[in-house]
Amino acid sequence: MKCPFCGHTEDRVVDSRVGREGEFIRRRRACLKCHRRYTTYEYIEDVLPHVVKRDGRREPFDRQKLRGSILKSCEKRSVGVQAVDDVVADIEAKLHDRAEKEITSLELGEIVMEHLQKLDQVAYVRFASVYRQFKDISQFMDEVKHLIKDDKPAKPVSAKAPKAAGKR
Ligand SMILES: [Zn+2]
Repeated sequence: MKCPFCGHTEDRVVDSRVGREGEFIRRRRACLKCHRRYTTYEYIEDVLPHVVKRDGRREPFDRQKLRGSILKSCEKRSVGVQAVDDVVADIEAKLHDRAEKEITSLELGEIVMEHLQKLDQVAYVRFASVYRQFKDISQFMDEVKHLIKDDKPAKPVSAKAPKAAGKR
């Protein structure tokens, strides 16, 4: 960093603090030449994707919304807020790694479920039931059964039946 007082490019970090929500790091620096102090802020480049919703609308990734829905899934479970925050951070990190400009709400939901499954099984099923909008109770039971039996992903429900040829 170039010293704002003398222009020297070498400094020493004397203090680092993570911002209120962890969205930045504040560093106090001391110039190695003039010894004056100045502050820099380090932000994550805005690479979090936009979420493409089922109806095609796009909205910016909303950390608070995600955190809220995970907390809700964990209601009355023995999951600490810190654990939830860690999961949110993990998911964000995953989105950063992906480095794509967009993610469908479906894909995002799958990533969340992947993490919740490791965190708390009840929270996972609660989240899944909202997120996948289970069409009926049997689909829901399939999900629960697969939780009990093994950890392989559930079979996708086949969407279309082949159309019957019309009679003449
Ligand atoms: Zn200086």
